[in-house]
Amino acid sequence: MSEKSEDGVNTICPYCGVGCGLKLHEGDEQGEVNIKPWFEAPVNEGALCIKGGAATEVVDHEERLMDPLIREDGEFREATWDEAFELITDEMQRIRDERGPDAMGFFGSSKCTNEENYLLQKLARRYGTNNVDNCTRMCHASTVAALRQSLGMGAMTNSMRDLREAADVFWIQGANPAEQHPIAHSQYFRQAILEDAFVVQVDPHVNKTSRDADLHLQVKPGTDIPLLNVVLKMILDNDWVDEEFIEARTEGYEEFVETLDEFDSEEAAEICGVPLEDIQRAAEEYATAENAAIFTGMGMSQHACGTDNVQNLINLALATGNLGRPGTGVNPLRGQNNVQGTCDVGTMYNTFPGYIPIDDDEKRKEVEEVWGFELPTTPGLSNVEISKAAGDTVHGLYVMGENPIISEPNANEVKRRLEQLEFMVVQDIFMSETAELADVVLPATSWAERGGTVTNTDRRVQRMRAATRVPGNTRHDLDILTEVGTRLFGDGFEFDAPEAVFEEIRQVMPIYHGMTYDRLGLEGLQWPCYDKDDEGDPYLYQETFETANGLGKMRGVEHQPPKEVPDEEYPFVLTTARLEEHYNTGTMSTRSPTLNRRTPENFVDVHPEDAERLGIEDEQYVKLVSRRGEVVVKANVNENVEQGVIWSTPHFADSPINQLTNDVLDPVAKIPEYKASAARVDVD
Ligand code: SF4
Repeated sequence: MSEKSEDGVNTICPYCGVGCGLKLHEGDEQGEVNIKPWFEAPVNEGALCIKGGAATEVVDHEERLMDPLIREDGEFREATWDEAFELITDEMQRIRDERGPDAMGFFGSSKCTNEENYLLQKLARRYGTNNVDNCTRMCHASTVAALRQSLGMGAMTNSMRDLREAADVFWIQGANPAEQHPIAHSQYFRQAILEDAFVVQVDPHVNKTSRDADLHLQVKPGTDIPLLNVVLKMILDNDWVDEEFIEARTEGYEEFVETLDEFDSEEAAEICGVPLEDIQRAAEEYATAENAAIFTGMGMSQHACGTDNVQNLINLALATGNLGRPGTGVNPLRGQNNVQGTCDVGTMYNTFPGYIPIDDDEKRKEVEEVWGFELPTTPGLSNVEISKAAGDTVHGLYVMGENPIISEPNANEVKRRLEQLEFMVVQDIFMSETAELADVVLPATSWAERGGTVTNTDRRVQRMRAATRVPGNTRHDLDILTEVGTRLFGDGFEFDAPEAVFEEIRQVMPIYHGMTYDRLGLEGLQWPCYDKDDEGDPYLYQETFETANGLGKMRGVEHQPPKEVPDEEYPFVLTTARLEEHYNTGTMSTRSPTLNRRTPENFVDVHPEDAERLGIEDEQYVKLVSRRGEVVVKANVNENVEQGVIWSTPHFADSPINQLTNDVLDPVAKIPEYKASAARVDVD
């Protein structure tokens, strides 16, 4: 049955995790594809933000990769697919024969579908390694770790719909939905705000969300734990805890209370740089609301203490009984359109599909039965660890749709490392900075040309549908992976369409088991969806948590300053965040004329008093310097930051801010500390 109707094809925006639906229809020109609103779309009801509205600008872009490229004598030459596949399989086999399977690494991508990521991690495991990861390691790995440890599932507890309808208080910490998830903000949060919900935003930077908020707590970067400890101490001292909930549904409460016995709230407020009375007001609003919901983003997760940061949000929700009901919960706003699904399907070094830990023998055997081969049990390396090991223990890399040379912290070192690889293959739609170093570059189809499923920020699995033909000599990521898998292993990769892969995903993942392409239809379904009559869960933990004993875990955490603090040589804290107009490393968004018109280049926010002291004029170019590199950007002199803090964005390859950021990792989740690096500002 054709997926196309007269007014187009229903599909999903390729950018952020909100998962907005839109209609695509082909234009008169060859390759032209246009957007129409999809008014019945389950998440966005027709609305799109500037990125979604401009998303077709990358589809027929003149710089699209159209043919496979092979490096010869230092230069790329066009090659046939057969030549490219032969080289890839020869090199992968050589590396495994000479050095063993753990000498290869595999990077999946949250820009790709569940089916594509599932096949990539299956390829890695069949090859014999758990060295496979995806970009959630850079964004919400610590959130997933904390939620899984303490509540049982690594995902948003509630749904945007129930939050809009039932939340009385929105506690938004380290997230800026008005700019980073614009439709979630405009369709859900803003409507609740207009209907009198109270909004607290905790963030070191003044942004559109903080301007909408009733109360903005402008913390110093890296002080989220002491701020939340002040809140928790106030909740305990004022008896705002939900004793019945704590008694029935949590464990660790008494030990948690002990950690705050000697806690000095005044000293902690000083560390955070936030007036005590503002924290008091925020604590009271949250704790005394009928339903209060927490939202969290990378301002919390991208720290060396990211897992503990999120644990403290969980402590807040558990202490006040704000879980298991509409309008409550701990809700990570996910970055890319399929970052949730990419984790769900096991594109992670430490879990197989459905979050099966690699050391869970019983469940691993169930997957082995479906796949027909033994899974590797040696712990894998995360993506940052793979980059750090390049040239030492890792000698080959398979990259699907990622650009680590711009996205990973300490990016100069990442580049130096990747240059030492014996072999790298990159499949992408444009020649990224990472692809420029590859031995083989494979031209993939774009979001408008392929089908599959993606899982949005509130666990809704939705179908993307191909709206236009496959251009030039490009191939779907899925077809590329089935070809490589079949050439390498002979069997296990014979899938002729995304639906066939999804059928296997259902077999190995109980939380997707009740879904079929037919059932997903146009509305999608929210996981967990265990059988064919299950309508999915709009909010989790109604009766019990998904931990081994069904209880939510409270655990006190202490302030851990950023691993690199300002000193005489590097007197500023550099912090970073995303913009409304751009996306990740800019591979797509900086090629979009509409988005570039709005924000054509990178910039750094500098406080007016710091600017005056250093002699910086507004819009003057300055050099940002850290222990790892230097980058020239335009200075925006404004009060969006406090003195001593500078703020910039990671989207621009010509001023790559991640050359400056610190690659120290959270010990639990291995997420890097992007959010606080020591830096200085030089003026020529
Ligand atoms: Fe796309 Fe996110 Fe914008 Fe929706 S909010 S249109 S999903 S970028």
